[in-house]
Amino acid sequence: MAAEIISGKDLAHELRLEMKQKVSELNDRGIYPKLSVILVGDNPASKSYVNGKKKACKETGILSDVIEMDSDTTEAQLLQQIELLNEDPSVHGILVQLPLPKQIREQKVIDTISFEKDVDGFHPINIGRMMTGEDAFLPCTPFGIITMLKSKNIPIAGKHAVVVGRSNIVGKPVGQLLLNEHATVTYCHSRTSNLQQLTQQADILIAAVGKINAIRAEHIKEGAVVIDVGINRLEDGSLTGDVDFEAAKEKASYITPVPRGVGPMTITMLLENTIKAAKGLA
Ligand code: NDP
Repeated sequence: MAAEIISGKDLAHELRLEMKQKVSELNDRGIYPKLSVILVGDNPASKSYVNGKKKACKETGILSDVIEMDSDTTEAQLLQQIELLNEDPSVHGILVQLPLPKQIREQKVIDTISFEKDVDGFHPINIGRMMTGEDAFLPCTPFGIITMLKSKNIPIAGKHAVVVGRSNIVGKPVGQLLLNEHATVTYCHSRTSNLQQLTQQADILIAAVGKINAIRAEHIKEGAVVIDVGINRLEDGSLTGDVDFEAAKEKASYITPVPRGVGPMTITMLLENTIKAAKGLA
């Protein structure tokens, strides 16, 4: 039987309607959630991501402003700009669009954002709190994945989750969140020698590799839940994930598509984190 498709687009739409309501309730109490985004340089992909975030904020009534800085901005100038936003009480969330020009150290930038405004969930304090299971801003893509699983009441506790990919923004944190939900977690990466043997054991398989067809039918156990995080561009300009979707959907019980899967959830969780910051819950 073909897998049920988990539409991130539909879920994101539903959640954003709920958020619009929450924002309006906050507005009634005189609280105006606001996200400030810093964009350094003129990378077209970064510009388009920032525009997407701005549009999503508008859709839910969250205020946003984009601070554009030249590509030759120094690290000191950027850190100074972040400090200004840290001190500005009207700003609840700060996001510095990555990647940054090479003269600027990314980790230094992440460390400078106040952890209480770190709506990307990349600050070491938020990462530490996520590990200990305390209240934290969760990184948006992993948070979106867990939200998708929960939206379908997919059991996580006691299940074997296999995460392919170990980046700091996707692989590592999604494994940690699955562990927090009591899954048994296995991480795979480019040095894993028996990938197929491990992925075949997965009840929940997360593909966060960044390579077309990295996960094929032979990697998937019958009935597994397959979450495809990958975003790869085909020659005709269209987007595809890491999973051979057509073959995988014949074996999986649930599967996420690309596009309209994890992608729309990532921005949605950024909005959720901004509302949380405005409520001062972190
Ligand atoms: P990275 O390039 O940082 O990490 C890729 C990971 O895949 C690494 O851990 C790497 O291992 C591992 N890997 C590479 N080749 C193999 C292989 N042959 N077998 C097993 N593991 C392998 O990417 P990101 O984590 O940042 O992103 C992953 C994908 O998700 C990308 O396509 C990205 O565009 C997409 N993405 C999508 C988002 C969304 O909102 N939908 C958000 C963020 C990312 P090693 O560590 O050993 O190098």
